[in-house]
Amino acid sequence: MGTAPRPLALRAARILTGDGEPARPDAVVLVRGGAIEAVCAAADPLPDDTVVLDLGDATLLPGFVDAHAHLTLPADRRGYEAVHELPDPDLLAFGRANAERHLRCGVTTVRDNGARGTLGVRLRDLLAGVPAAPRVLAAGRPLTPPGGHFHFCGGTAGTPAEIRDAVHRLADEGVDHIKIIASGGGTAGSRPEECTYSGEHLRAAVGAARARGLRTAAHCRAAESARQAVAAGVDCLEHLDFLRPVAGGDPTVEYDAETVRMIRDAGTYLSMTMQAGGYDTLLDQRGRPDPDERVVARLERYFRDKLGVLRRLLDDGLGERIVISTDAGPADTRFGRFHLGLALAAEAGYPAADVLRAATSRAAEACGLGASTGRITPGHADDLEAVGGDLLADVTRAADVRLVLARGTVVGTGIPA
Ligand SMILES: [Zn+2]
Repeated sequence: MGTAPRPLALRAARILTGDGEPARPDAVVLVRGGAIEAVCAAADPLPDDTVVLDLGDATLLPGFVDAHAHLTLPADRRGYEAVHELPDPDLLAFGRANAERHLRCGVTTVRDNGARGTLGVRLRDLLAGVPAAPRVLAAGRPLTPPGGHFHFCGGTAGTPAEIRDAVHRLADEGVDHIKIIASGGGTAGSRPEECTYSGEHLRAAVGAARARGLRTAAHCRAAESARQAVAAGVDCLEHLDFLRPVAGGDPTVEYDAETVRMIRDAGTYLSMTMQAGGYDTLLDQRGRPDPDERVVARLERYFRDKLGVLRRLLDDGLGERIVISTDAGPADTRFGRFHLGLALAAEAGYPAADVLRAATSRAAEACGLGASTGRITPGHADDLEAVGGDLLADVTRAADVRLVLARGTVVGTGIPA
């Protein structure tokens, strides 16, 4: 379907505005010209030329905001090094296809947290001209030390002065935020449990970013990197795995209550990439008659630790700072499966209403878009989705997307006649 010049009214059995309020029964959302015009009762009169779509037993809610993804990575289990043998047009093609997959699962905004060269900004601008595509915020090249995690993107900066220069170069290119690799990650030769930058490096990045009006997001898998990033004033911590090095062995997960207290005091956002690190593989293995027991054991332990961290954060009152994101792109973390992170968060005991805020209004705020998307309220963009049934009763219903609306364009998958 193309862009509808006439007002469109979406009626559903229940509407979640994204604010954490109880569902509004039998309400209607009126959209026109790419924006939400009104939220009214089903019985209220509508403009004469309104096109009415009755979604029936569905939940209408704001489109999801994925605060952490890598659109230009193929999410097909290939390693980073193999992907970056590929030419730019291939990575842009991944980006277009991934954006469409994410849109169809209800994600209407994607914050791209790292792409090679200028591909992040190029993809964002390309998708801005496509009728049915999510809005993209691009970090461009993540800041990383020589040989560090994501170094192949070309954002290498070793000293505080180099970091400041790199931030200004990215700002000149038009990036939307700055991504800092504060600990190691899945790149060959990199260790997730170790810090990559000192506090001085991180402060240089944050200072330069602020001077250019840009927010910062820091990849923090190591516990110590999270502490340093909060102290440096980073706006959003990504992953937050609380990994600690163990001499001669695998790292352990050790929740750090002191860092969490600093996070709470600073009001830092936590972008919890729940399904990243192998949940797609774990689900696949669980469904096989002959699972690889070693892989299953490793992944069960990894996700048990991850849910344990989320539980502790909730117990410590951090629920109000948490954003649920995917980290789709690297390894096996596929696009179009946003619901998996919601299900994992609910499994950790995060109440459904909070999980949904963490994926809509709060995620939009964390990305600096709180005034334009993430809520069903007049004046916001018409970023909407409908899922079958009562989403507040069961967040896994987010897998059953019936309709997505973005920029005045309906992407329907199962609209009742
Ligand atoms: Zn990432």
